[in-house]
Order: sequence, then structure tokens, then C-alpha cells
Amino acid sequence: MAEGVKRIQENKGDLLHLDVMDGNFVPNISFGPKMIRDLRPHAEIPLDTHLMIDHPERYIRDFADAGSDLITIHYEAEVHVHRTLTMIREMGKKAGVSIVPSTPAFLLEDLLPFVDLILIMSVNPGFGGQKMIPESLDKIRYLAAQRKKKDLSYVISVDGGINRTTAPSAIEAGADILVLGSAFFSADNPSILVEELKSQR
Ligand code: ZN
Repeated sequence: MAEGVKRIQENKGDLLHLDVMDGNFVPNISFGPKMIRDLRPHAEIPLDTHLMIDHPERYIRDFADAGSDLITIHYEAEVHVHRTLTMIREMGKKAGVSIVPSTPAFLLEDLLPFVDLILIMSVNPGFGGQKMIPESLDKIRYLAAQRKKKDLSYVISVDGGINRTTAPSAIEAGADILVLGSAFFSADNPSILVEELKSQR
């Protein structure tokens, strides 16, 4: 993991996106706050923690204390999303909300003023290496339009199936942050890929 962090930083990644999976909200299990705490000293870039876990409110304190800069929870993972987002901000962290492909973006409308980041899942979460679901682009467009209309300043991030081929349409739709997994780690020269994608903004 520390090697991976080094590789991301050396190849001009701006954020370290950490997928936390609990084996309930998503089928897979990855890691918890201890891994983030252990990685913290190796990272100079912000830690962007994506909690794909049920009832994230139980663990916000742990992930904040572990050194996350941004904490993103899932709209589908609990009832009191607004309260948990407020809790994240009260801990001095940036608060994000994410939706899976089957959740419509308009459901986020009442939460928009309370988030720093919206993460659009462009694959069904749980595993790497999947193909991007093209309907995700409409959600990005909708959220970019809402941001403008309501004069808000959240950033829009997209996660899942992002590569050289799919990135231009996500950028065009209004995505500010592209989360790369397989495309980055399997690239012959990741820094060229990152530069190329950044130049399209
Ligand atoms: Zn993620």
C-alpha cells in the first residue's frame, strides 16, 4: 500500500482515494481505519476516504482520527445522511456523499448545500476493473447544472471504469475529480496518463 501511495504521488495524482468496503454494503471487504492511519505518514496528498459501508455514522470519528481529509458516505447506507454529513464537517473534515448507479441524482437535492463533494459511482461498487455505466454522465450534468443554478461550490467526483477512453466524456459532463484505479495501476507510464487527463480540464 505504501508503495502504491508513492507511485500515485510520483505520477502526479492529486488525491489518494481510499475505498473502504465492509462486506455488507458491498460484497467485498477491503480495509478499515487502521490502514488509513498507517498510510497517513506516507502521504503528502489529501486522503479521500470513500466509505462503502452500512451505517457509516458509527465510524466517522475513527476515520477522521485516522487522518482522512475528506470523508464520503453513501446516500443508500443510512437514513440520517444529513446528520452524518454535518458530523463530518464538525470534525473539521470535508464531507462527501455518494450514490450507486441505481440511485437517481435528484434525490440529493436537499443535501446539496451541506456537501463539499459528490461522488458519482459509475459502476456498481465493490470491485475494480469494471466498465463505466454511461448513464452516470447524465447525473454529472445534472449536478453541475444544480451547482450553477444554486450558486454552490461542491466538487463532482466520478469513480468506476474511468480510463483514457471514458474520461473525456466525464470531464465534458462536468466532473472535477476522476478516480482512477485499474487504468492508473496498469498504465505503462501513469504520469503521461495523468497529465493527459489533467490537460483536458
Ligand atoms: Zn471509491
